[in-house]
Amino acid sequence: MSRILIVEDEEAIAELEKDYLELSGFEVVIEKDGNAALSLGLAEPFDMYILDIMLPGVDGFELCRQFRENSNAPILMVSARKEDIDKIRGLGMGADDYITKPFSPSELVARVKAHLARYDRLIGAMPPKEDVISVRNLRIDRTTHRVWVNGEERMLTAKEYDLLLFLVENPNQVFSKEELFRELWDEDIIGDIATVPVHIKKVREKVEVDPARPQFIETVWGVGYRFKV
Ligand code: CA
Repeated sequence: MSRILIVEDEEAIAELEKDYLELSGFEVVIEKDGNAALSLGLAEPFDMYILDIMLPGVDGFELCRQFRENSNAPILMVSARKEDIDKIRGLGMGADDYITKPFSPSELVARVKAHLARYDRLIGAMPPKEDVISVRNLRIDRTTHRVWVNGEERMLTAKEYDLLLFLVENPNQVFSKEELFRELWDEDIIGDIATVPVHIKKVREKVEVDPARPQFIETVWGVGYRFKV
């Protein structure tokens, strides 16, 4: 399910947007304060951002700039002021679209659906032969087996790389320890399945910003692991 962050200080508008988006099957988080929105939006992955411009704390322009630096997810700006719209158009700040207040909720939902569909095609259905895979701040070059996080190269062992790549190439699917072991370790060798969580931990230490709260490799309790996109 796509998760959307709405940053809007007018409660009635925020709730209206939330209601309509939830009816369309989206998961919605509302933040009313710009500073709080900035912390949340950088700490957690969202599939789309809907940003009001005039906010207490950091404004929508700055939020847009910072979210864009950290994510390729679509950003929709919301404003009532014509000069804001000109600024969004002119500045190249990375917004994908804008909508002017007042707007109809169904118009908003239509835009959100269109942007998310495009974004899903971009990340979810990456062509299998693509050499470089980018998911948020993670980048993997399949030709050279190199991995970067926030532009900084991370050194993975061959097995750690295989494990990461396998999960990335099968996004959002949950794999048990047994399945991963079968898939990635030599079947002829009598191995210890406990090596799987050990390798997961090592990969997390290398690719997660906070390995204790992984944004990429998620533990699905009692089932296994999945790579979240
Ligand atoms: Ca506002």
